[in-house]
Amino acid sequence: MDTRTILAERLTTVCGRIAGACRRVGRDPSSVTLIAVTKTTSPEVAAIVAELGTLDMGESRPQELWKKAVAVPTARWHFIGHLQRNKLDRTLPLVTLMHSVDSERVLESLAEFGSKRGVPVPMLLEVNCSREAAKGGFSPDAVPAVSDKALSLTGVTLRGLMTMAAYSDNPEDARPTFAELRQLRDALRLRTGLALPELSMGMSGDFEVAVEEGATLVRIGTTLFEGLGTA
Ligand SMILES: *Cc1c(COP(=O)(O)O)cnc(C)c1O
Repeated sequence: MDTRTILAERLTTVCGRIAGACRRVGRDPSSVTLIAVTKTTSPEVAAIVAELGTLDMGESRPQELWKKAVAVPTARWHFIGHLQRNKLDRTLPLVTLMHSVDSERVLESLAEFGSKRGVPVPMLLEVNCSREAAKGGFSPDAVPAVSDKALSLTGVTLRGLMTMAAYSDNPEDARPTFAELRQLRDALRLRTGLALPELSMGMSGDFEVAVEEGATLVRIGTTLFEGLGTA
């Protein structure tokens, strides 16, 4: 089978699994956006994904994003990694949503960029709900204070929260992590009166559980791109 046929089948399968998870909990499948995480694949393969109708794409490295943004001009780019200060100016204008704001320093530099440009940067706070020492993100306890800070900065727009579950072969292990992120968001909503609509959670191994727990953005790489190095 050629790359396009394989990708079309995988996209159909993933969308079907998202729809199935929605059905189990009474959600509308249109409330979940599939983000194709293209970090392991080529610009050519990413371009095929866009032609097949999936336009939301995730990248974790600025240089890859720059390259692919040229190859796939119709894509909406989600940044899901570490963005060094010296790459902000070139990267942020290409980015639809910053998912991985994991320190006050990053938050401040985004706000500075957004103020300078006169357009606030849409962003999510990354929360370390799985409490793994090696993982980035704010501790759940820090979320109220950090979100107050984000809301006080005119250069950013807080759109919601993001998390990564601990690696496990059993997707059910991720459920408490995802449920906690939703609860944190719901508490923030009550406190601030803001919609905070986005919950970015769920990857190849656990996205159905994430959707059952309220994910609005699922970030999927391996399931779509495994074995498809280049176009
Ligand atoms: C790579 C990556 C993904 C995609 O993970 P898969 O398991 O390949 O689906 C999702 N989110 C983040 C932050 C990533 O770095």
